[in-house]
Amino acid sequence: MRRYLIAGNWKMNTSLETGTALASGLADHVRGRDLPVDVLVCPPFPYLAAVKATAGEAGISVGAQNCYFEASGAFTGEVSVDMLKDIGCDSVILGHSERRHVLKECDDMINKKTKAAIEGGLQVVLCVGELLEEREADKTEAVLDEQMAGGLKDVSAEQMANVVIAYEPVWAIGTGKTASPEQAEQAHAHLRKWLADRYTSEVAEQTRILYGGSVKPANAKELLGQQNVDGALVGGASLTVDNFGPIIDAGVELSA
Ligand code: PEP
Repeated sequence: MRRYLIAGNWKMNTSLETGTALASGLADHVRGRDLPVDVLVCPPFPYLAAVKATAGEAGISVGAQNCYFEASGAFTGEVSVDMLKDIGCDSVILGHSERRHVLKECDDMINKKTKAAIEGGLQVVLCVGELLEEREADKTEAVLDEQMAGGLKDVSAEQMANVVIAYEPVWAIGTGKTASPEQAEQAHAHLRKWLADRYTSEVAEQTRILYGGSVKPANAKELLGQQNVDGALVGGASLTVDNFGPIIDAGVELSA
């Protein structure tokens, strides 16, 4: 049975003060409840250590929103996997659509980062998803297949224990437009089949596939209730306890 993962991507938001307050509020929300779901927050790099100190003691995992694939050296502005491990990071989001489309990261770069992160002991949340024009041209599955094959090139079945997939239709990210539960389930079922074909049925059964794209308290339960949806990657609604708390609780209710 896959455990839900409720993950928050804070993107380039918060300050030291507001980020720490958010972490503290989330810690209060989950503390002592022995939750049947995993909770992860991914703040900007400068606040990782402070958020880890505040949220970590309540059992909330902390992840980065990016990393570099080289171990050290002359890579100005980059952050290595070891540096993230050093400050207590558990996970890293890779292949987010904003990095693919705004920062122009390609599958090859994402794959190098994915392998470095897994080898360095981080859980990877690998994001895949189609643009609106790709969906309208009926290319969703082809785009997902290409991003999965590219991002997971040379990643072994054993290493997949440290990989979570996030299906994030680009047209639903930060737009207020959510994929319908049926659209999400269809894409997730396709991704699970891809995992079974590329790896094994065990890998497909064990790998968590999160949905991301305008998840909020009002739609969380219906999306999380789909058979192949194993959690949520939440952007905007992860920035307040009032919104992220009920999304965590939706996962808790469905785990009962
Ligand atoms: C995201 O950034 O991964 C995301 C899904 O954002 P939002 O929830 O704001 O659509």
